Amino acid sequence: MKGGPLAERVRAEVADDVRELGQVGLATVQVGEDPASTIYIRRKHEAADEAGMHSVDRKLPASISQEELVEEVAALNADDGIDGILVQLPLPRGLDDAAAVTAIDPVKDVDGVHPFNAGELYLGRPTHVPATPLGIMALLDEHRVPLDGARAVVIGRSDIVGKPIAHLLLQAHATVTICHSHTDDLARQTLDADVLVVAAGVPEIVTTDMVKSGAAVVDVGINRTESGLVGDVDPDVAKVAAFLTPVPGGVGPMTIAMLLENTVRAARFRRGLLAFPGIRG
Ligand code: NAD
Repeated sequence: MKGGPLAERVRAEVADDVRELGQVGLATVQVGEDPASTIYIRRKHEAADEAGMHSVDRKLPASISQEELVEEVAALNADDGIDGILVQLPLPRGLDDAAAVTAIDPVKDVDGVHPFNAGELYLGRPTHVPATPLGIMALLDEHRVPLDGARAVVIGRSDIVGKPIAHLLLQAHATVTICHSHTDDLARQTLDADVLVVAAGVPEIVTTDMVKSGAAVVDVGINRTESGLVGDVDPDVAKVAAFLTPVPGGVGPMTIAMLLENTVRAARFRRGLLAFPGIRG
C-alpha cells in the first residue's frame, strides 16, 4: 500500500483547487530547532509551494514565552492571507502544547488539534481532522479495505494519530480496539485484527507472528535508527498481510497531501463556500 501515487493525485487536485480559489495560505509555527521537525516542516512548505499556496514559515526561539507564542498565533489568526495554521508539536519544555493549540482559530486549525475540532470528531462530525489519520483512511479506501464490521486494532493513543484514527474507523463501523503502552499482551489484540494501524514510535514493535493472515497493516511509525529510517512494523509482515504500507513512502506522503487538502478546506470555510459548524455559526 504505497502512499506516493495517491498522494500525488491528491496534491494535483489541491493545486487545481488553489487555482480555482485564487489564493490559499498556510502558516507553520516551529519553536526551537528540533532537526526532525525542521525536515517535516520543510517538506510541508515544499508541497504547499508546489500546489501554488502562499506559505509562511514562522521559526521562533525556544526561549520564547507562552504569552509571546500565543501572540504569534493570534497574529496569524488575524492575518486574512492565512487560511491554515499548524503549530509543530511537541513544543520545547516549559511551553504548553494545549494552550498553544487552543489559541489557534478553529477554522484555521488544519492539524485538527483544537479542542473544538477534536470534539467534533469525537461526536461523529469530522470537521478539521488531523492529516495522518485522514491519509490512512484515504489509503484504506483506495485499496478497498472493508471496514464495516471489520476488527480494527490501533496501537497508540496520541491526539494526532491514535485517537483520531480510532474515531474515524469507528465511524466507518469497524469494531475498534485501542492499545497503548500499558496494554498487556499486545499480540493477543493484534492477532484478531483485520485492520491494524501501528503508531507507537517503537521500531518493529509488530512482528510477523502478531499479524493475522490477510490483514491490512498500516505502519505510521518513523524511527531513526543506526540502520536508517524504519517503521513500527517488521517489513516481513508483508508475507502474512494482504496490505502493508512501506516506511518510508507509505503514510508519510499521504500526511502531507492531506494537510494541503485540509488547508483548501479551511480556505473554503473562510470564504463561506462550506459551512463551518457550531461556534462560528
Ligand atoms: P506519541 O509518542 O505521541 O504516541 C505513541 C503512542 O504509542 C502512545 O499512545 C503510547 O501509549 C503508545 N506506545 C508506546 N510504546 C508502546 C508499546 N510498547 N506498546 C504499545 N503501545 C505503545 O507518537 P505519535 O505522535 O502518535 O507518533 C507515533 C509514531 O508515528 C512516531 O514514530 C511518529 O514519528 C510517527 N508519525 C508519523 C507520521 C507520518 O506522517 N508518517 C505522522 C505522525 C507521527
